[in-house]
Amino acid sequence: MNPYIQYMYSYPHKTAYRPLPAVNLRDYAERLQGPGRSLYLHIPFCQGKCGYCNLFSVTGANHEDMERYLDALERQMGQYRQVLEPGNTSFSDFTIGGGTPLLLTEKQLDRLFYMTNRYLNLEAGCNMVIETAPNQTDRERLKILKAAGAARVSMGIQSFCREELNTLKRGHDPDKARMALDLLMSFEFPCVNLDFIYGIPGQGTESLLRSLKEAASYGPQEIFLYPLYVKHGARLEREGMVLEPEKAYEQYREASSYLRANGFCQDSMRRFVRRRKTEDRREFSDCGFSASLALGCGGRSYVGNLHFCTPYAITTGDCMRELKTFQDTADFTRITHGIFLSEDEEKRRYVIRHLLIRPGINQDRYQEWFQSRLLEDFPLIAQWMKEGYAAIGKGNYLALTEDGMGLSDYLGPQLISDKVAGRMREWEDVHGLKKWAYGSLQGQPEKL
Ligand code: SF4
Repeated sequence: MNPYIQYMYSYPHKTAYRPLPAVNLRDYAERLQGPGRSLYLHIPFCQGKCGYCNLFSVTGANHEDMERYLDALERQMGQYRQVLEPGNTSFSDFTIGGGTPLLLTEKQLDRLFYMTNRYLNLEAGCNMVIETAPNQTDRERLKILKAAGAARVSMGIQSFCREELNTLKRGHDPDKARMALDLLMSFEFPCVNLDFIYGIPGQGTESLLRSLKEAASYGPQEIFLYPLYVKHGARLEREGMVLEPEKAYEQYREASSYLRANGFCQDSMRRFVRRRKTEDRREFSDCGFSASLALGCGGRSYVGNLHFCTPYAITTGDCMRELKTFQDTADFTRITHGIFLSEDEEKRRYVIRHLLIRPGINQDRYQEWFQSRLLEDFPLIAQWMKEGYAAIGKGNYLALTEDGMGLSDYLGPQLISDKVAGRMREWEDVHGLKKWAYGSLQGQPEKL
């Protein structure tokens, strides 16, 4: 069997979004009032396209292209300020992702922070997160991040093995990654996260463990371990790469137990956090419901049951077209593409956003939110408990077991509703893509 069906980091998938007529952000400003909101800025430029990537990113942009993008982003911030100011919206979380944000010049990076602070209200002590890549990590840019107060810097290393990086078509070499990592650690950001990939054709478990051991020796606070997917629209799909999911699953088991035995707590199938002396387990937070605004092209916003973004684009041509549309947009408060979630879909989202991450779902809070019981709404989870994939622990939390967590990408997709799965299939049909196997899985996973 294939335990790697789909990564469920949010719900519903963007392929379930559709054009929305006559929706304006002003009409939903009330849902964004007050403190504690999340802000995401998407910088969609990359040096080269990694073989496995179908994220919203473009390559080959020059200085002027990036300036035009920042000009549009500034217009969007100005218009959003008018919507947000009357309700005193402020942000406690601020993430800059991409793409490769540090591909911006130092001046552009300064400008990005300047305009964010000018137009939007970041709270004191706002948790600032930024993504980077080895080739774009240098002293000057890190100084800018430090001065801006970045709390978490995440670097995509993927492997310390040259052949594996070549297979992934990842544009840095291991020595460059080591130099960038030395430099990054010397800045002593509160949290450094390093991303790695397993399941790469030709990658032995020994090689994976060597990469992780080397990564851990730098002392990062977090390591994310991603299974390789051949995603729609990605270069590896066009080149016909074939994966070996059962081998990947074996690698996952070895690598996760290595990290757990060497000072890391496992929070989800992908997230490993360095254990501290005083164990500060993640507190319960209703992460499925906090309002989150994404600015720029490619990020998505969650405003109550209204989710929206620019139309989903995975090919270079489509990304370029959306980028141009974004740069030419006059009124950013008009929401043209997204979805309104029904209560059933909100429940599914809540479960997906909590169950796949420790500490799991607090069943009492679920009942308070929805006035119904978790296990009555989701008999499937009761079945998982019988199978040993989920269990109820302290404080009435329902969480995946270690076995269940390793199967997150198989169990999670079973929580997709038929309606959303239908929309996703429809999107694939329209775009002439192969079927993904989500939403309609029958029966239980075989024991591995
Ligand atoms: S994986 Fe990251 S660095 Fe690579 S192309 Fe995609 S967005 Fe760019």
